[in-house]
Amino acid sequence: MPEAPCDLLVVGAGAAGLTAALTAAARGARVLVLTKGHAPDSSSMHAQGGIAGAVGDDDTAALHAVDTERAGRELCRPSAVKVLTEEGPERVRELIAMGVPFDPELSLEGGHSRRRVSSVEGAATGWAVTSVLGRLAGRTEGIATREATNALALWTDGGRCLGVLTPDGPIAARATILAMGGAAALWARSTNPEGQIGDGIAIAYAAGAAVADLEFMQFHPTVLAGSRLLLTEALRGDGATLLDENGERFVDELAPRDEVARAIVRKGRAWLDLRSVDRSRFPGLMAEIEKAGFDPATEPIPVSPAAHYTIGGVVTDLVGRTDIPGLFAAGESAATGVHGANRLASNSLLECLVFGRRAALAALDEPAAPARPEMPPPERPPLAPVRERTASRKLRGQVWREAGVMRDPADLSDLARSPDVVASLVGRFALARSESRGVHYRIDAPTVDPGFEGHFVLRLGQELKLEHWT
Ligand SMILES: Cc1cc2nc3c(=O)[nH]c(=O)nc-3n(C[C@H](O)[C@H](O)[C@H](O)COP(=O)(O)OP(=O)(O)OC[C@H]3O[C@@H](n4cnc5c(N)ncnc54)[C@H](O)[C@@H]3O)c2cc1C
Repeated sequence: MPEAPCDLLVVGAGAAGLTAALTAAARGARVLVLTKGHAPDSSSMHAQGGIAGAVGDDDTAALHAVDTERAGRELCRPSAVKVLTEEGPERVRELIAMGVPFDPELSLEGGHSRRRVSSVEGAATGWAVTSVLGRLAGRTEGIATREATNALALWTDGGRCLGVLTPDGPIAARATILAMGGAAALWARSTNPEGQIGDGIAIAYAAGAAVADLEFMQFHPTVLAGSRLLLTEALRGDGATLLDENGERFVDELAPRDEVARAIVRKGRAWLDLRSVDRSRFPGLMAEIEKAGFDPATEPIPVSPAAHYTIGGVVTDLVGRTDIPGLFAAGESAATGVHGANRLASNSLLECLVFGRRAALAALDEPAAPARPEMPPPERPPLAPVRERTASRKLRGQVWREAGVMRDPADLSDLARSPDVVASLVGRFALARSESRGVHYRIDAPTVDPGFEGHFVLRLGQELKLEHWT
């Protein structure tokens, strides 16, 4: 028999989930937070460079919006960009009030026309932010956390989401927020923690929610070769250069990430030269590089791109509502359209704060759940096929080869037939977009086609549809 429903079930304890939980609990809600592994095991924890937000004297939300839309290549949803950039500064100031020890100087990152990135010790921002949010959540009476509890499927009845199914049984809630992060660890080379294989997308799609923009995987250009260690864009903002094997520069280091990533793939091999950078601004990162066996003071560091950020996800409106009543999504799990075809650096932690808060506020308006909802009979979906999703080395290798930085339609057709639901969705979406835009590059169609100015959306049992979001 399921327990009595909580007011809000938040799946995921990254920046989006913790923000949603704290927002709801501050309004008196009883919140349960679930995490797949241990609470710190999130992309949020690993975030480096920082949080964008127009907090500088020479900056405005409108300038931040222009940069976001320029990076997004005609595909950002203007209403979402307006919300992100206008509410962003207040969310950053709230973090300061909570005790996040931001550096006194704002950082500059690729695609930004102003120094507007708030960071902690140059590259320890995610750790600092999630530690502060996590500590606050741990001290808040209305918030309970259950670690190592995998959300296997959504529990829906009569078209409404009633909570989630876990290996330990169902968990009922008046409203459920998916804050389950992205899918980048489905690619063999990735910056994300191993578990980030798109479970949120898989369970929402299986339950009938629309998913969108899954062809848009952002590859980070400068990840230490042979490892998951990301060398933040802020280093390039502070003067680090990219060199080829002759020691020559070959790309504008502050061009948008997709351009830098492709330039590196075309070169084959590349090195990041940190010798002119004030390395004392990035103490933790320099220690990690040294631990990996390199000396950034004397030698350029070998780098290559890796899958980094899932632009697509579960379709939501501007308050996190999905197609399914009672179900919300926020952070990297959601597709609000805010990033268009290419995410501007450091806009994703901001997205977690802005849309995590909005989703929590909207979720609290949901009608009460049945006091003790009836379990669906075991032979009925979604209970019957429930199993933990895993990604083998072979699958990750296939996704990297077939949906990498430069894509071939024959490879994508193969991927579309994958038995893994998320890998197959990536193949189908990337095949449908036979143009190159933002992070999605097709070798058979290397230019932008105005006919594709829209978001591909898919619902279970239907065909892909190109939609225009305002
Ligand atoms: C190395 C690195 C550096 C980055 N640097 C920056 C940066 O400087 N600035 C910036 O803006 N962005 C950066 N990003 C991106 C940013 O960190 C993420 O987009 C953002 O933190 C995502 O937050 P989230 O809350 O949506 O998800 P995450 O932080 O990924 O949290 C996901 C949560 O969902 C849980 N979960 C997943 N599946 C399940 C399941 N089946 N059941 C239960 N729980 C589940 C996980 O356990 C985790 O708690 C970086 C990312 C990485 C990996």
